[in-house]
Amino acid sequence: MWLARGSVVTAGAISRRLGLGAGSTVGGRVGIAIDPRLLAKLAAGRQVALVSGTNGKTTTTRLLAEALGGPGVVATSLAGANMPAGLVAALCSTPAPTGPAVLEVDEGYLGDVDASVRPRVVVALNLSRDQLDRVGEVRMVAARWREAFAATKATVVANCDDPLVAWAAIAAGHVVWVAAGGIWHADAHHCPSCDARVDFSAADTSGWSCTCGLRRPRPEAALTDHALRIGDRTVPFALALPGRFNRANAAMAAVAASVLGIDAARALEAMSRVDDIAGRFAVVTDGSVSARLLLAKNPAGWTELVDLLAGGTGPLVVAVNARDADGHDPSWLWDVPFERLGRRRVVATGERRDDLAVRLRHAGVAHATVRDQIDALHAAHRAGSDMGGHSAGVNATVDYVGNYTAFQELRRRVGRSPHTAAAPTKTLRTDAQPSWTVRTPARPRSADTIRPDSSDTTISGSGPGSGSGSGPGSGRARARRSALSVVVVHPDLLGTYGDGGNGVVLADRAAWRGIPVELVLAPSDGPLPRSADLYCLGGGEDGPQSRSATQLADGSLEDALARGATVLAVCAGFQILGHSFPGPGGVPQPGLGLLDVATVRGTGPRAVGEVVAEVLAPTALAPTALGPITLGPITLGDHALLTGFVNHAGETRIGPGARPLARLLSGDGNSRSGAPPADGAVAGTVVATYLHGPVLARNPALADALLSMATGQVLEPLDDVEEDALRVERLRGSARKIGAGTPRARKIG
Ligand SMILES: [Zn+2]
Repeated sequence: MWLARGSVVTAGAISRRLGLGAGSTVGGRVGIAIDPRLLAKLAAGRQVALVSGTNGKTTTTRLLAEALGGPGVVATSLAGANMPAGLVAALCSTPAPTGPAVLEVDEGYLGDVDASVRPRVVVALNLSRDQLDRVGEVRMVAARWREAFAATKATVVANCDDPLVAWAAIAAGHVVWVAAGGIWHADAHHCPSCDARVDFSAADTSGWSCTCGLRRPRPEAALTDHALRIGDRTVPFALALPGRFNRANAAMAAVAASVLGIDAARALEAMSRVDDIAGRFAVVTDGSVSARLLLAKNPAGWTELVDLLAGGTGPLVVAVNARDADGHDPSWLWDVPFERLGRRRVVATGERRDDLAVRLRHAGVAHATVRDQIDALHAAHRAGSDMGGHSAGVNATVDYVGNYTAFQELRRRVGRSPHTAAAPTKTLRTDAQPSWTVRTPARPRSADTIRPDSSDTTISGSGPGSGSGSGPGSGRARARRSALSVVVVHPDLLGTYGDGGNGVVLADRAAWRGIPVELVLAPSDGPLPRSADLYCLGGGEDGPQSRSATQLADGSLEDALARGATVLAVCAGFQILGHSFPGPGGVPQPGLGLLDVATVRGTGPRAVGEVVAEVLAPTALAPTALGPITLGPITLGDHALLTGFVNHAGETRIGPGARPLARLLSGDGNSRSGAPPADGAVAGTVVATYLHGPVLARNPALADALLSMATGQVLEPLDDVEEDALRVERLRGSARKIGAGTPRARKIG
């Protein structure tokens, strides 16, 4: 072991000297290669605390380490090095081989690490969707936690307000429940035990229960506004770190500290001074600009930060990349309530700033795009000055939120070199003086049903939304109501990939043209409206997909189709409309039979990645009078290119009663064995595709085609400069895969 331990230190030092980063993971890997049981041996004799969860584990680890005496006394993780090699390096980081250790553990490794290090306490923070194209389903992680907790000898400090955490931690022999709160419930709409809908309607808003008997355990400690109630004591505390979520992290850490014999008040006092977690929350300066750096990696984390930032009016920069460490699919942008930032001016930057711009357009937030992150900080700073946010000589701090690689890049660069504001870029906007785009939100938003506001309903009887169209949908719809009705079907079940965004895009594009519209979110615990004009089905995990199909077998969607409604079905929704699809465990399950397709379980790895596809039959998507559809500035002859992202395991075959929507130019489609490779299916008023992203945000012409089908009207073009920029950026990325003029039929597997 001492040879292995020495190797960790040596390899870590060499790695640092070679500029390969902090060296923690390299050293750990070398050590484990020499002694596979090194982690267990290094932990033996120590009092170990593990911290895991989708969000907050780095911060909570740091806070708990501070409470136990600080990094000089406690062996603790370097931020992000939370897999076994990183943990080995952390345990080698203090000279005292028997001192306490506080280790941040990746959610997927918690069971293995627990078995190795035999911790005294495990802190279970929260579980939510994160990098779906890489990490997989959150419920599988919860199931693995449940196994780990059933085996652990540790005291588990668990957040009882998260149903997935609670379900997993109930299996542990000894649990201390903490009511730490949380505002993200999208991954726990349905009971992890029985799959029924979880009821979050308890009066105190933090209680939850299921008809099967699973319910929020009674907490022994609870976070109130600015205090921790623990047993019969109430301990007020204040942190240098901002936000409700950091108070929750501190509450969890304080309870863990008390399990380890440290008084909670003393622990919180020690934590109060921490103001910088590996650069997060730090205020940095670049020239005349000071910026507060915030990191968010997934929709739950972004939602917490939006909650923190919603009250303010100061300048804000949001930065999104989509590299390996971020996940390649930023469809989650549509799960984040950016609408709440309406009082701020937002500069979108990072490699996926064009996705952000389209999202912010639909959120009604004044925004501009700037390619370079440092330029973006300066542009936001100038915007703050313009708005009178600070007087001359007193700088307003720019808030910056980035996802993982964007944040790390900015942190490396900020303050390092003299800034040149006029750096040329390839964006549509001039970086030196960004032009601000804002469009008033089309609709007020509420929890379940969104009705148009008065400004959208005033137009009737004339103009493009008058109902004078002659297509199949118009007379039907107008006979009942004045507003076009767009329904998002079961957002609680079929909303894994920001799919609700498709409904938002449709409703906004109707409203922007003056067409009266209502957007209805129809969750699975109520009846599906049968008389709407347009229905959107999205993607979902196996269990929720199966549940949605069972619910829709009541004939509601079939009824709507018989009345002439238009249906957009994406991914799991596409499969549901067919004759059969693989249910949980791959067992074939009957679909609705509304589309002549059938899906079987695929044999290879999941189809994951960017797709470009050429619409095969534009006339199938719109009345002939509309002519061929052109999707933005990039078209192939008269045909239309679709851009999107897929993530599915099924293989879908099309029967004689339907046609493919599009032929593939790059990426994976319906089936890896089908020829020619195709995506989606079209029949009558049903349009189905595997593309999410959401697909209509990237392909506004497809949205307009659906609106034309639903209204029977020829639609006026909109100013789609931001959508076009996004399309160009996405299609350019895929262009090298597409032969010039002769799209390559891709043969897979
Ligand atoms: Zn249940």
